[in-house]
Amino acid sequence: MTAPTTTKTQAALNAFVKETGGWVAGQLEACTRCGLCAEACHFYQALGNPEYAPVWKMEPLRRAYQQRFTISGRIKSALGLAKPVTDEDLGRWSVLVYEACTVCNKCALVCPMGIQIGTLIHDVRTAMSAAGVVPADLHAAALKQVEIGSPLGVTAEAWRERLDWIAEEWEVEIPVDKPGAETLAVFTSIEVMKFPENLAAVATILNKAGENWTVASQGREAVNFGVFESDPELTKVFLGRVFDAAKALGVKRIMIAECGHSYEAFRWTAPNIMDVPPGIEITHIVRVMYELMKAGRIKLKAGAYADAPVTFHDSCKIQRRGGLIKEPRALLKVLAGDSFREMDPCREQSQCCGGGGGVISIKEADPLRFAVFGMKIDQMKANGAQTVCMVCSNCRLQFTEGVAQYNSGVKVRGLTDMVAKALE
Ligand code: SF4
Ligand code: SF4
Repeated sequence: MTAPTTTKTQAALNAFVKETGGWVAGQLEACTRCGLCAEACHFYQALGNPEYAPVWKMEPLRRAYQQRFTISGRIKSALGLAKPVTDEDLGRWSVLVYEACTVCNKCALVCPMGIQIGTLIHDVRTAMSAAGVVPADLHAAALKQVEIGSPLGVTAEAWRERLDWIAEEWEVEIPVDKPGAETLAVFTSIEVMKFPENLAAVATILNKAGENWTVASQGREAVNFGVFESDPELTKVFLGRVFDAAKALGVKRIMIAECGHSYEAFRWTAPNIMDVPPGIEITHIVRVMYELMKAGRIKLKAGAYADAPVTFHDSCKIQRRGGLIKEPRALLKVLAGDSFREMDPCREQSQCCGGGGGVISIKEADPLRFAVFGMKIDQMKANGAQTVCMVCSNCRLQFTEGVAQYNSGVKVRGLTDMVAKALE
């Protein structure tokens, strides 16, 4: 007997159908179900569960597409022979796409048909969001970002107090809402609350280079829980707060500090879903540091970290998606010289840390994200690194917690902090 369609499943189906334009249909039709993408997924690799195969995570979208848009699927549906999407399915796939997927898109690199699997998994998340089947922790963080302006609940007053404390503690000037500034620096709540030295480091570097910059109290949060939940309306609201602040201040560029998902949201998601203010460049701190060094506006102490092996973790959104691969290596070549060691795999092939895509905010996903982090531990053991650095605070939080979980002695650092401490 066919299961009745509930309000939840109807909402999910409507969203699936809405997401299914020509591009999505082409992608789904192209999939040969060869299963090659499974071997690229760190969740599948670490745990061997066939449900973690990327192609299986897209399955509800494929079913909805077939039943609504293909002749055979429509006939089967009419005859009651098609497998309908049920509430139980939504619950199952909610775990798969929110807890066992970091939307790292490494699977797309190996797909012989060039299918953008990460994007399709985002579409599945959109349907889950429309049906209200989102992990409670993740949704609670999104609501906090709506109401308070920060997924960690950092109020405007707490943010300002924190900035004042950072400025005093690190003896660095942090301009706030400075009219006429050219660069708007945007940080995540993780940086502000858990890695304050990162904010101090950015300020130290920009001040040293003589950059005309500011932070904005109205556009203070870089991270976007609308993207993690895959709710397009929330995504627009959060992006809009920063764009509005940038417009009001008249800046020429928005510089994302150490956050990969934010960089992706501002650079690629925003132009695809909303009107973005013209003439504002989107950049990332690692590119800015590289350009400042190349231009001679900052000078680094050569070999400042050359006394022990240092490795770099390539973040999915900054390096694989964003292509900022040579920039951190150029900085590390100066800072660590021959002590710099690549991880295997690295660069665009790098394996995700396991905490991205909102996974780190979901308590129930902890066993999964720590299980996949074991592979990063193996990679660091293999190259003998004593320090690992990165340019994403989300990855840094995952590494900090993962290294503690495995009792590894590897030191975890933000590259920006390392650069700031090595300024001549
Ligand atoms: S590798 Fe590509 S074609 Fe093969 S199953 Fe995965 S998504 Fe489909
Ligand atoms: S996007 Fe990353 S985590 Fe998600 S299925 Fe693909 S490889 Fe796995």
